[in-house]
Amino acid sequence: MEKVRGILIGRMQPVHNGHIEVIKKTLEEVDEIVIGIGSAQKSHELKDPFTAGERVVMLTQALIENNIDPGSYYIIPMEDINFNAIWVAHVKMMTPPFSVVYSGNSLVKQLFYEEGFEVRNPPLYDRMNLSGTEIRRRMLEDENWQELVPQATIDVIEEINGVERLKNLAIKEISEIGD
Ligand code: NAD
Repeated sequence: MEKVRGILIGRMQPVHNGHIEVIKKTLEEVDEIVIGIGSAQKSHELKDPFTAGERVVMLTQALIENNIDPGSYYIIPMEDINFNAIWVAHVKMMTPPFSVVYSGNSLVKQLFYEEGFEVRNPPLYDRMNLSGTEIRRRMLEDENWQELVPQATIDVIEEINGVERLKNLAIKEISEIGD
């Protein structure tokens, strides 16, 4: 029988437990999942501190940590393009064929819906805490961000001094306010 393949695209700044839960849940519904690391060109910004490569390591190791079959997913960094109307074609060009789109992002859902894809809303897990915004805030405020992410994300952030990077980006952006 033909395999059903889904896609989930996220910036994953950084990879957190919500992403892992949604990937597990999605794999109960489809045979394989394409995981797009969105805004791959971005890094070293307050909202997007980590490079695509760093996010690939976080995700790859986190999926191993969670015993998810490595034959069931493809991790693909995806750069943004300036034109929303042709973004779906750009995504299709970069990924294995897929038929179901999982996203909670309204723009993403709208663009795929208009191109005829089946769009599903994945359940949200503890969205108050499991969000990149909250995790980056905790990093800046020296609060417990580690409880919200897989061990693999902690390991990568320690390896690259990620919290220090984020704090330096915050100082730099404040100092540029007067420019
Ligand atoms: P995100 O990391 O915030 O979320 C990705 C997905 O993960 C969400 O849709 C949601 O399904 C899931 N998720 C997140 N937190 C969760 C939680 N607590 N529980 C369960 N699931 C959770 O990323 P995003 O902002 O949605 O990413 C969209 C990407 O698509 C961005 O990189 C954006 O730039 C890109 N994009 C680009 C264009 C273009 O280039 N023209 C157009 C549209 C979108």
